[in-house]
Amino acid sequence: MNETSGKVTEMFGSNVFSDAVMRVRLPKNAYKSFKRTLDGLEPLDPAVADVMANAMKDWAIEKGATHFCHWFQPMTGLTAEKHDSFISPTPDGRTIMEFSGKELIKGEPDASSFPSGGLRATFEARGYTAWDCTSPVFVKEDGKNITLYIPCAFCSYTGVALDKKTPLLRSMDALSTQALRVLHALGNTASRRVTSTLGAEQEYFLVDSSFYRKRLDLMLTGRTLFGAPSPRGQELEDHYFGSLHERVATFMHELNLELWKLGVSAKTQHNEVAPAQYEIAPVFATVNVATDHNQLTMETLRKVALRNNFCCLLHEKPFAGVNGSGKHNNWSMVTDDGMNLLEPGSTPHENMIFLVMLCAVVRAVDKYAILLRASVANAGNEHRLGANEAPPAIVSVFLGEQLTDIFDQLANGGAKSSTCGGDLKLGVSALPSLPKDSTDRNRTSPFAFTGNKFEFRMVGSSQSTSGPCFVLNTIVADVLEEIADELEKTSDVKGTAQKITRRIAKEHRRIVYNGDNYTREWVAEAEKRGLPNIRSTVDSLKTLFDKENVEVLKKHKVLSKTELHARAEILFENYSKLLHIESLTMLNMARRQILPAASQYAGALAASVQSVMAAGATSVGQSKMLVKVCELINQMNGNVEDLEKMVNKTEEIGNSIKQAESYRDQVIPAMAALRQSADELEKIVDAQLWPLPAYAEMFFVK
Ligand code: ADP
Ligand code: MG
Repeated sequence: MNETSGKVTEMFGSNVFSDAVMRVRLPKNAYKSFKRTLDGLEPLDPAVADVMANAMKDWAIEKGATHFCHWFQPMTGLTAEKHDSFISPTPDGRTIMEFSGKELIKGEPDASSFPSGGLRATFEARGYTAWDCTSPVFVKEDGKNITLYIPCAFCSYTGVALDKKTPLLRSMDALSTQALRVLHALGNTASRRVTSTLGAEQEYFLVDSSFYRKRLDLMLTGRTLFGAPSPRGQELEDHYFGSLHERVATFMHELNLELWKLGVSAKTQHNEVAPAQYEIAPVFATVNVATDHNQLTMETLRKVALRNNFCCLLHEKPFAGVNGSGKHNNWSMVTDDGMNLLEPGSTPHENMIFLVMLCAVVRAVDKYAILLRASVANAGNEHRLGANEAPPAIVSVFLGEQLTDIFDQLANGGAKSSTCGGDLKLGVSALPSLPKDSTDRNRTSPFAFTGNKFEFRMVGSSQSTSGPCFVLNTIVADVLEEIADELEKTSDVKGTAQKITRRIAKEHRRIVYNGDNYTREWVAEAEKRGLPNIRSTVDSLKTLFDKENVEVLKKHKVLSKTELHARAEILFENYSKLLHIESLTMLNMARRQILPAASQYAGALAASVQSVMAAGATSVGQSKMLVKVCELINQMNGNVEDLEKMVNKTEEIGNSIKQAESYRDQVIPAMAALRQSADELEKIVDAQLWPLPAYAEMFFVK
């Protein structure tokens, strides 16, 4: 028995101002009016906002809250918040607790210190946060501080989006509009809204915090910049799905409780492939709520880890030589009356809505593969995509056997049959016979159809899910718009739909690939098929200026050209800044920790050579070791000087793209050279003298 026995249902969402709470606490009329606003049927009535704010305040105060905050997602990719207390002093020197509709709806944080990509200068500081009433308000406990959190969008005085949420909300509208047009044209007139759904599987590492505190690289950059390989890594394939270590299991338990209180439906947890790597996945939700929840999940992971003397690493590649971490974005579209548009049913070849939606996604992903790739480009993810681990930087789609077969039938004139899964025979009479899925899984595909949704696996573990989701929503909306235009014009809807799916199946067969995406053969094959393979982050970000990419985001009113360019600017700067921090951290550790330790060891060896010789014995071994250590010290010292020179030169470059290129072409190779000589030293220097916890310790000490 533990403290949760029988209490999970009570605890779930207890810190959320949920629909159930609203129904109880709001006057009937206010509740109804607010529901109509949520359904997009009417704007928020200011009088209702006042009633809402008051009810929220009373509820939050009962939970111990003293403050409220507008909680938003600036371009840092993290969240931001500024707390205000509810107190309102009275003339007689006392105070009452107040919270108005105006304060609920709008905040005015100083916007000048957030990244804006040149959209605003410090003298034009005004920015607004606007309540996103589609994502529920909640109370969060941080230590003794309890605060009412109001999920918000964030824009400038001129209405330019300065955050990650605004384009996501705009893209949801675009997708809904176009998907509804297609549905209506295909004869479904019941649905009134289509939303995209997201289930984000989150990978992370846990290391003991005593190791973390001894590593400046982990503290400042979230990844190890030095570190010789551990003699044992992930080669035994014994960590994945392994039984949970007690300390980790306790951490996961506490994590779940915290998340459940916040209404985050933490569902799945397990050991991942690399040692010390784990995963958590929630039950899917509407993309904007799921994006908020993923931010809360990342924050709670860090917080609960610290409480348990762990440090949670969310970086895409904390350790060289073992798997990095991703965030698999499971994405689909669902109508307000509960139909999943990517649900094939038992006879997918007869399911016209499904076939049209499937074709639309495949066409969107092929047509805008470059934009989708750019939506996951950052410095951390560069270590995964296009490096020697998965998924590759080539965007392809896994459809699996059954759907590929249908796709091919469509291309050849129309789908007439669906292959079935049948039963699985295990050859043991005591085991039940299992109905087999019609399609095997593929873990190497960057964009895989997994039963009733697509799983976009290129997203980095530290990234906001907003970018990839708003791009996906927009490009699918764009293709659905083309399809709707065609369907609305015709009197022969069925024939036209067949023509469209046939055309798409033919034209976009090239992006469908069911094989192993990690092989060299696929890279060659993809090139033959003309699929782009953009390995570098900088090259990928440059495509944000491509005409088609600007156009599609502009056309669906997700980002204006100015907003997109500002974002690109921020991303280039961010790439350079991160690499700048990483190089300075390396220089610091090399000069102040590694070289001194190696020199001390060289001194000890020299002393040993001398004293052994003086005693009349042979010191050939020590002499050889000494020569090797000194050689490496010399080499490493040279690498330090080279890196410093490269960084200084690169920092002088004024143009942000050229600077990022210089980080990629000049600084990264210099960092790699420095790391190599330091790691060689780690392999031979006295472990007692080595100043940094080793990979083996961080992986295996719990
Ligand atoms: P995997 O086998 O891919 O690791 P998991 O169970 O870890 O699967 O994660 C699958 C994720 O997909 C979960 O978050 C789940 O809620 C989500 N999911 C399921 N159906 C949908 C859907 N229709 N739309 C979006 N996400 C979905
Ligand atoms: Mg999983």
